[in-house]
Amino acid sequence: MAQIKPEPTDEADELLFIDEDEQSPPTERKMWKVLIADDEPDVHVATKLVLRDFSFLDRGIEFLDAYSGEETFQMLKDNPNVAVVFLDVVMETENAGLMAVKRIREELCNSLVRIILRTGQPGQAPEESVIVDFDINDYKAKSELTTSKLFTTLVSAMRSFRHLQTIEASRHGLQQILEGSVALLKVRSTDCFLSGLLMQMQAMFNLGSDAILCARNSRGSTGGTLPKPVVLAAAGKYNGITGTELERANLPAWKQDIIDAFESGQGGFYEGHFSIYFYSQTVFEIVILFESKNAPTEFDSALIEVFCTTAAVSLCNIHLLETLEQKVIERTNALSKANEDLLIMASTDALTKVYNRGYLFEVGNQQLSSAHRYKRPLTAIILDVDHFKAINDTYGHSTGDAVLKSLAGLCAGAMRESDIFGRYGGEEFVAILPETDLEGAMILAEQLRKAIETLVIDGPVASVAVTISLGVTAAATKDSDIAHTIGRADEALYLAKNQGRNRVVAQ
Ligand code: GH3
Ligand code: MG
Ligand code: MG
Repeated sequence: MAQIKPEPTDEADELLFIDEDEQSPPTERKMWKVLIADDEPDVHVATKLVLRDFSFLDRGIEFLDAYSGEETFQMLKDNPNVAVVFLDVVMETENAGLMAVKRIREELCNSLVRIILRTGQPGQAPEESVIVDFDINDYKAKSELTTSKLFTTLVSAMRSFRHLQTIEASRHGLQQILEGSVALLKVRSTDCFLSGLLMQMQAMFNLGSDAILCARNSRGSTGGTLPKPVVLAAAGKYNGITGTELERANLPAWKQDIIDAFESGQGGFYEGHFSIYFYSQTVFEIVILFESKNAPTEFDSALIEVFCTTAAVSLCNIHLLETLEQKVIERTNALSKANEDLLIMASTDALTKVYNRGYLFEVGNQQLSSAHRYKRPLTAIILDVDHFKAINDTYGHSTGDAVLKSLAGLCAGAMRESDIFGRYGGEEFVAILPETDLEGAMILAEQLRKAIETLVIDGPVASVAVTISLGVTAAATKDSDIAHTIGRADEALYLAKNQGRNRVVAQ
């Protein structure tokens, strides 16, 4: 998933070796530090003589000297990277050496340094438990340590030291990756994640403070061309360019190296900067560029790869989460829109877009009981198109439909906000008028009649004019259902028809 290919470097093994003094010239060979702790100066001289040509993994020894247990402790305190100690048991006290071991392990918590106990007095052997508990590598009588024995003992101690150091470095690196990943896992948006990723990498691997992270969404390709990379996080002096298209961003010449990394799918190490390429399940491709004089060690590169791989998985999850959240929002919006549409559909007449019969009765009954409760007036008007059948027969059904639509629109527009106007059936419409007495209803009915009489309707075949007959009634106390009120209005309508049509009759 992540690709990090550092060029081979002299420094590659650096982590496995003791840290060098900051001041030491870079050209100086790295050395293993070996401490000789013995109160007899001759032992120091002899040991150095025997081991003067010693080399392990191509590196020689830098000797340190201590002449007492106390001095040994101080020396280790000041030089935590000492690889091996040759330690005399009897120095300022009978067990000064053993005490020094205890303090090195327990007070300095240095569990890496390998310790070889040497004693001049046979019979001074420490308890077996001391050797185990304090992790003592070897216990030898000085007489036993001949030239070749000393040499092989040191080699095996060095080897253990190196292994322990490698394990410790891996443990530390993985621990950091784990902590970094946990911190990143808490992030829930892609933007925060990417800037967090950049910061974590800078902190964990001590990379340069000036860096940018570019990404392109490889899913969004159109017509074979990939979308352009965008700077999604930036640190240090590039802080301000987040959100800019890489092509337009004002960056040093290394901008081309980022473009190349996207092209080739791998990062690279250059003079003064290096880039890392990784991708997350083909959704994002990411290139991070650090401005840094030092390239990361091979070991750090491996850790960075592990980190990027973990990060890529997290990034995928976040992207998935964001996509899901977006989908949920879209679905919810679509559902509430559909719900609104359904509600409108359930109460509306499909042809004329005024209320339908069901809604007319539902709301009419609510208004009726409210009028009864508060002893307020309520009236109903029913209207029917005169000789409507003839319109259909003469001009066709679609002209009939056009008449119904125009008529409904005109009447609905003439109502108050609180009035309910709906299609009762066929070419009959009903208006329920809360807070309106019979006189008021008659006035409105007459206005409607006149307005329709003068209306010219542009049908698909011909322009037509119609008249309407209207029956009006006021809600009576005995009306327990709006159907009773409408029924009485219908009787009035029947009278209007019988009296010659195009008129209003109240009952
Ligand atoms: P009257 O003056 O007595 O009311 O006579 P009329 O012809 O209007 O009454 P009738 O009840 O005989 O005819 C009503 C016609 O309305 C019959 C029916 O086909 C027509 N009609 C009902 N619904 C629709 C509709 O949605 N569109 C159209 N174009 N015609 C409809
Ligand atoms: Mg009619
Ligand atoms: Mg009719």
